[in-house]
Amino acid sequence: MKNDIFAEGISLLSQPVMPLVSMVQFIYLTGPFATVGEVIGELPEPIETGRARYENPRALLSGYLDILAGFEKVKEGAFTPPVVVDEENNPVDGFAAALAVIQQQLLTAELERINSVLCGPCQCTLCCVGPVQSMAQEFFEIPLAGGELDLFTAGRCDNAASRNSLPLDDDELLWEGRPFYQVAEPALFHWKKGWSLILPRGSTCPNLNDRGQCRMYDDRPEVCRRPQIFPYMIEPLESVEGDAPAMRIRQSLLAVVDCPYVRALQDEIADYAAASELNLVLKQNKS
Ligand code: SF4
Ligand code: SF4
Repeated sequence: MKNDIFAEGISLLSQPVMPLVSMVQFIYLTGPFATVGEVIGELPEPIETGRARYENPRALLSGYLDILAGFEKVKEGAFTPPVVVDEENNPVDGFAAALAVIQQQLLTAELERINSVLCGPCQCTLCCVGPVQSMAQEFFEIPLAGGELDLFTAGRCDNAASRNSLPLDDDELLWEGRPFYQVAEPALFHWKKGWSLILPRGSTCPNLNDRGQCRMYDDRPEVCRRPQIFPYMIEPLESVEGDAPAMRIRQSLLAVVDCPYVRALQDEIADYAAASELNLVLKQNKS
């Protein structure tokens, strides 16, 4: 049953791109190649690693050529990475920082695809609704980039108090005389850290139609694209005002076990993490 409904996702999880990327990265950066595409074109087929057999590694890698081109900038010395620190907060050199940024981009793109094919068969809307009565939380939050606000028809709260608050502050933001989450409908809030959609108890995202589908599926926000398996090769650090944004190397994969496909595929996700040299962290978010 599991193998039937999740066949495409299981196949993608069993062919992680990172082992192939490590090969290409090494050959390209140490060899006389002008482009990453040249290296990909010369790869043998199939390729077998300790954990996976890739029948079509060239086609698989070609799907990520735009991101892999970042290695060309690294080789030319033209890639300017953000400040990246290790887990002890020591800055890593620019070369290692650039590689970590590119690897994060590759994992993000790969997991967006994997999440998309796994979510559909579950016919689940957990990510698109507020907490139900049995849950401890008062609201769920969907963080948004500035350009994503217009995807939602919802009230907006943007004032000095909201811009000075965070959703989990002990001293709760008040909106229209009540705690911000005690409203009937989802609303957009401008916090200290940026915008988010707040889904109060019992509410649904304004973009969810009555068949449980997203009206904005093709344009849905970034955060809705990789709902429950998140790559953290690097993670953003809260920057002190005025400081350049910084990242920390984590080399982790976070899988949220509230999600039905994460619960069903824990072994496959663990194998994917191991093959990608990421530490798997399983976490429950909604309770
Ligand atoms: S925008 Fe779409 S995918 Fe995102 S929470 Fe709303 S309905 Fe769900
Ligand atoms: S919890 Fe999982 S299956 Fe449910 S909507 Fe979110 S990503 Fe999809």
